[in-house]
Amino acid sequence: GFSTATAIEEPIQPPVQVNHTQLLINGQFVDSASGRTFPTLDPRTGELIAHVAEGDVEDVNRAVVAARKAFDEGPWPKMTGYQRSCILYRFADLIEKHNDEIAALETWDNGKPYEQAAKAEIPTLARLMRYYAGWADKIHGLIVPADSPHHVQVLHEPIGVAGQIIPWNFPLLMFAWKVGPALACGNTIVLKTAEQTPLSALLVSKLFHEAGLPDGVLNVISGFGPTAGAALASHMDVDKLAFTGSTDTGKIVLELAARSNLKPVTLELGGKSPIIIMDDADIDQAVEVAHFALFFNQGQCCCAGSRTFVHERVYDEFVEKAKARALKRVVGDPFRKGVEQGPQIDEEQFSKILHYIKSGVDSGATLVTGGDRIGSKGYYIQPTVFSDVEDKMKIAKEEIFGPVQTILKFKDVNEVIQRANTTRYGLAAGVFTHNLNTANTFMRALRAGTVWINCYDVFDAAIPFGGYKMSGNGREKGIDSLKNYLQVKAVVTPLKNP
Ligand code: ADP
Repeated sequence: GFSTATAIEEPIQPPVQVNHTQLLINGQFVDSASGRTFPTLDPRTGELIAHVAEGDVEDVNRAVVAARKAFDEGPWPKMTGYQRSCILYRFADLIEKHNDEIAALETWDNGKPYEQAAKAEIPTLARLMRYYAGWADKIHGLIVPADSPHHVQVLHEPIGVAGQIIPWNFPLLMFAWKVGPALACGNTIVLKTAEQTPLSALLVSKLFHEAGLPDGVLNVISGFGPTAGAALASHMDVDKLAFTGSTDTGKIVLELAARSNLKPVTLELGGKSPIIIMDDADIDQAVEVAHFALFFNQGQCCCAGSRTFVHERVYDEFVEKAKARALKRVVGDPFRKGVEQGPQIDEEQFSKILHYIKSGVDSGATLVTGGDRIGSKGYYIQPTVFSDVEDKMKIAKEEIFGPVQTILKFKDVNEVIQRANTTRYGLAAGVFTHNLNTANTFMRALRAGTVWINCYDVFDAAIPFGGYKMSGNGREKGIDSLKNYLQVKAVVTPLKNP
């Protein structure tokens, strides 16, 4: 058998209390209409963290009524952009003040390494909120010249009540990507969190109200997809829907939106992103970055570099070094110092990943390292590397969403461009080369919303993120994200004395 360098040590009790488990509607924490709750579990052990109020149709209705009232009667959309911006800045300050507490709750509910949450993810949440605070007083329309004696103004108005459905892999970053632009533009929100990770959004939304957010502007519903999520997607009084999750669920919510009130929908869906390593690349750097691109966040990233294409001249060297790096990966209790990889989110994902690993072996790929669970408790999986992977194999086509690197071999640029693009997805791509012409060729030819050259997973509040093809539509972050939350109104008046 294969084994990883670090064994699981006894779990540490996280230094955090769970204070908020109810639904947040109209600025108040309330029980669900049905009185029902569901358990949220610790991925380190599968044990209970807390029972959380389970939202359903009636709760979504109540939340939409609150958001509607907060939109129609104000004050939120009627406040000046600067006033809204000040509240967003104050929220960012409170996130910083409570950084470690928020990070601990996120790690407990999600399983991601605490050091990453505390040093990167929560600071990025504050950073994103400040980015959108910066936009709030800089959103304006324009005057356009008409070819007739008319004065033409184009107003940019908030759309209204935004329904937002987010996943469990980055609960608070997904919160920020959704909530930031919607609020900067003056909309109100009903947000449905993922059933695996309901806790952190409740805590930070409480802080948002402390920062001065008026009641009803941000309502948070915990609950399941086919009930609470579907109720939001199909609601007649929700004016816009934003969704991040799997491509299959994306199709469902788009259909629900179409069948109800034709609300516009932005989607950020799955991926099977290629990373292409040319023979002139810095191989050690490429190994390290490709490792990070796949294994970061337990492999649970929609833009994970999950097809590693390596030029035949450096293939054997790359596979050896990728194996050595995977063996060095520190897997263990995410609250422990130095841990790079915690458990997968839940039993379902854990089993699915092990199933894909089996499928890789059965289809004839070479299992270079890993391939099994770690320990007998919780959802830990060995960092796994496959070589000799072929395009037609399931592990090269489907999203695994786990710590499983698949390495494929290629001969030349045109061949690998064609193979990299042969996927229904188009979220991201990576290229490693020192030849400028080769980099430019790839940069133009790859059909993906992001192309990282000699780097990967470089995110920034100002960089737009989103997919080509079945990876979604619309862009989040950057100036493009504002368009999703603005309605455009043309106003035309005659000029009497042009
Ligand atoms: P994953 O497989 O990663 O859990 P999903 O796409 O199923 O991804 O989940 C992403 C989000 O979509 C979650 O908040 C989930 O509850 C929600 N969701 C799942 N099914 C539906 C549905 N039928 N309608 C609306 N939302 C859904």
